[in-house]
Parts: sequence; structure tokens; C-alpha cells
Amino acid sequence: RYQSLAYNRVLEIHKQHLSPVLTAYFSEPLLLHQGHMEWLFDYEGNRYLDFFSGIVTVSVGHCHPKVNAVAQKQLGRLWHTSAVFFHPPIHEYAEKLSALLPEPLKVIFLMNSGSEANDLAMLMARAHSNNTDIISFRGAYHGCSPYTLGLTNVGFHKMELPSGMGCQSTMCPDVFCGPWGGSHCRDSPVQTIRKCSCAPDCCQAKDQYIEQFKDTLSTSVAKSIAGFFAEPIQGVNGVVQYPKGFLKEAFELVRERGGVCIADEVQTGFGRLGSHFWGFQTHGVLPDIVTMAKGIGNGFPMAAVVTTPEIAKSLAKRLLHFNTFGGNPMACAIGSSVLEVIKEENLQENSQEVGTYMLLKFAKLRDEFEIVGDVRGKGLMIGIEMVKDKTSRQPLPREEINQIHQDCKRMGLLIGRGGTFSQTFRIAPSMCINKPEVDFAVEVFRSALIQHKQRQDK
Ligand code: PMP
Repeated sequence: RYQSLAYNRVLEIHKQHLSPVLTAYFSEPLLLHQGHMEWLFDYEGNRYLDFFSGIVTVSVGHCHPKVNAVAQKQLGRLWHTSAVFFHPPIHEYAEKLSALLPEPLKVIFLMNSGSEANDLAMLMARAHSNNTDIISFRGAYHGCSPYTLGLTNVGFHKMELPSGMGCQSTMCPDVFCGPWGGSHCRDSPVQTIRKCSCAPDCCQAKDQYIEQFKDTLSTSVAKSIAGFFAEPIQGVNGVVQYPKGFLKEAFELVRERGGVCIADEVQTGFGRLGSHFWGFQTHGVLPDIVTMAKGIGNGFPMAAVVTTPEIAKSLAKRLLHFNTFGGNPMACAIGSSVLEVIKEENLQENSQEVGTYMLLKFAKLRDEFEIVGDVRGKGLMIGIEMVKDKTSRQPLPREEINQIHQDCKRMGLLIGRGGTFSQTFRIAPSMCINKPEVDFAVEVFRSALIQHKQRQDK
């Protein structure tokens, strides 16, 4: 443990010297001292099962021994920029990462954060298409930089300042909250509560959302557009899944108007969804640009943009893109070891097996509790939407959600939150978790729901 400051002193320093935007997730903020694989330890030595891995930042486990060993070795060898020198880790990494992407997605730009990666992807889309307008979904989160804030359509991230020139939002094809139902038309192993009346491959909801998308294209943007950004599953908005086939049709419509299609894999990539290594593959589409961050470095600041040689050339013709720390030797050595661990430890397969096991267990709680409105997701990206009741689907009041969240923490389980009203619990652990840990997590969550019911019944 750190020989460190008392908890109250930490709170004081935080208040005086750190950005007020760094709001703590819990009413009593968690002061962490150590992490090991799927476990976290606070300053008093209390142990927590981390089922949110710092917002999908840690992909293969906190302080994974192999990743740590590689980082330590590189630490003693060279840390520098890649912007003006060659060094082996970046070339080794470029080969490894590009091998995981389909043709023609073979050119890699390395960055330090998801926002930076999406900034660059916006520039690329505009430079390549010679157009300006970019579309993203309502509820999307693509970053917090001035440029990407135009793509991010989560109300509480919007400011009363000019931003997002050329960015337009379109309706999110959310089959749980949206008007057309269709939740059985998403790619999730769980049973859903409102059955869509159409056949699985021809979902009415999908067609309705495509009509909305066409409406945006004909009313809100220029005839020719630069691009369209989509998360394969929305993370910050509460693990929102689109109806099957939606992205494929949307990509065609975008390309007809000269735009490029960008998959933001910051939360969905690197095997987390289980059935496929990349989220876009689960939709059967091939994007023109893929952006990635968070789990790519297992907690080390790192991000990437991967695109086609043609798009990369369009950018190079217009600007010398420069990033001092993007692709630095430390990040690349760590990134390579993360890819090796995912393969050696079969973590994609584990996401599929343990994730499906967990989804089905959580889905049972939906039958047991009126306030569990929807359980969805894929692999180890799971959303549990909390409602006042199943008929109205109104979000459960925030104070009640807060209490359930705190109760889980008190019992040793950390989970995330998402959605406009913070109404969805998000579960996205490191990909190394096992079934007994899932059993523990489901039991803790169930107990928190029982406690909620007891409070309400009083
Ligand atoms: N895209 C997605 C899908 C994200 O979830 C996030 C972060 N929440 C970002 C981009 C931005 O990443 P960063 O915070 O590293 O800038």
C-alpha cells in the first residue's frame, strides 16, 4: 500500500486543485491503491470485483503480469517519440494490429486517446471526401475534444458554446426505448420483452429507423457528405444495440452520398463482444476507418486509427499529421503484449462463453424484478436498463439507481452507469473473468434489488 494521505485530505486536495469535472462516480469516492486482474483494492485493503474495469479501459486484467513485465523491460530500454525516429516496438505493433483487420484496412495511425483518434478520423473523412457534413447518432459518445464534441450527442456533455460545425445527429435506432419495438431483432443472446411482429431478418423497426436516417440525409446535411460515425454498440448511452441489418443499409446510404463510414471500436473492440474481434464484424459491415482506444493499452494511454491506403493518401496530400507521443515505444510494447495475451489466454472465447453465461443469468432477474426493464448486450458488454415499471419503461428515479449502485459497491461489486438518465447499469469487466465471479456478481446485484424492494415496500 501507499504510505499516503488520509482519505479526508485526498478529498480536500481534489476539491482545491483538481478539475471540478472530475466528479466521483460514487457519493463516497473510491480511493484505490492496487489492482490485480479483475480485482481492485482500496486504501483500507477492501477488495472489489471490478466489473467495469475503469470504463472498459482494462481489457486483460489490472497489472497483468505479462503486460507489466513487457512494460518494465521497455521502461529500461527506451522511451521516446515515434514522430522523428524509428524503433522496433512500433513496427512490431503495426504488423500485429494490421494482421487483425480485414483488407483494405491496413494503414495505422497511433494516438493517445479515443478523442484524438476520432478527431483524426473526422479530418480523414473530410480530407478524403472533400465534403464537410458528418452524421452520428443521438446518444453517441465519440470524445470530448472541441472537434469530437460535435459528434458526441449525450446531453450532459453539450455546452452552451459553438461546437460541431458540420456535425449532424440522427435518430438512434434504440429498439428498447424507441417507438417501434423490435428488441428481438438485435444481436444478443437474451430473450427480450417486447416481441417484434416481423420475421427476424426483416425487422420493421429497422426499416423505420432507416427511413429516419434517410430523412436526416435529405433534410439536415448537404447532398454530399463526409462521413458517418457509429459505435457498433453504444457504450456511454447504456449498451444500446441497433436492429440487425441497420448499419449495413446505413453504410450503403452514406457511401451513395460520397461519405466514408467510421466504426468507433473504443469500447467494443479487441474481442470484448466474443463472437468477433471487432464490433463492426457483428454487423457484417466493412468500415473505411476504424478507431480504437481504452482496452488497446490495458490502461496505458494509447489509441489508433486504421484506414485504407487510399484514405491515408488523401490525408497525407493535405497535411503532415504529427503526434509527439502517438505510437511511442512504451505504448507500442504494451499494445503488442495486450494482443499476445488476448490470443494466448483465449480471451475472446472467454468473453463469448462467460459473457453469454452472465447475460442469461442477468436476464433471469428481468423476470423476477419489475424494475429490471431490459437486459442486453453481447459478450462482456452488458446493459441492464432500470425502469419504474415494465409497461411505462420510464427510467427508475436517479436516487433509487444511486442507492442500488452504492449497495453493490458496499457488497464488493463495481459496476458502471450509462444512459441519458443514468438509468442503465453497464457491465464490462476485464476479459479474464470466470463463471464463479459472475455468480458472485449476479448474487450481489440481486441482493441490491431485494434491498431496493424492501425499501419501497416499507
Ligand atoms: N469513443 C467512445 C465509444 C468512447 O466510449 C470514448 C470514451 N468514453 C471515446 C471515444 C473517447 O475516448 P477518450 O476518453 O480516450 O478520449
